[in-house]
Amino acid sequence: MNLLVLGPQGSGKGTQATRLSEAYGIPHVSTGEMFRSAIEAGTELGRRVEPILASGELVPDDLTIQLIRERLAESDAERGFVLDGFPRNLAQAGALDAMLAEIDRGLDAVLFFDISDDVAVERLQGRARREGREDDAPEAIARRLELYHAQTEPVVERYRASGKLVPIHAERTIGQVAGEIVEALELLDEEAIA
Ligand code: AMP
Repeated sequence: MNLLVLGPQGSGKGTQATRLSEAYGIPHVSTGEMFRSAIEAGTELGRRVEPILASGELVPDDLTIQLIRERLAESDAERGFVLDGFPRNLAQAGALDAMLAEIDRGLDAVLFFDISDDVAVERLQGRARREGREDDAPEAIARRLELYHAQTEPVVERYRASGKLVPIHAERTIGQVAGEIVEALELLDEEAIA
């Protein structure tokens, strides 16, 4: 099962990606988490991306694409993956298509977590209070949402046009959203069999 979760920060896509990863026994590949681990471990990549994450800007495409290329080539991703936080713009989406074509794989579904900016900001402010993530500072939150609308929404439209997009009502509770995802994936499965 090759899945992609798309949506603004605060839409709950990371939480659902973790659940899907456990349910299907496939890795949850989150570029944001990979960057935060590199920062914590003090690697060269971590030192490079730390100021970028703190400001809410995007890490350059070449670095991000290379990171994903290497991650998807690892053996635990052979049976599938849940990709979270990538692709963030059209250039990354094109690179992902090319990567998957090379290994003769495709995406089974692109789950789109639909949520208003107001609810996203409210949730991110809550997370900032609980976890103290540096990029959940008010200016960084605003910048990330701005970049989401400018750069990631075109990716949503691209997958909508390709018929792969599965819209999810993401303003509801974690359990309700999880239920909707299970139903949507079962439906896809039935369509694939029919
Ligand atoms: P996230 O946890 O997905 O919200 O990502 C946190 C931060 O990591 C983002 O604000 C970016 O600075 C960086 N980042 C994560 N994924 C990407 C990506 N695909 N392209 C560029 N930067 C990214």
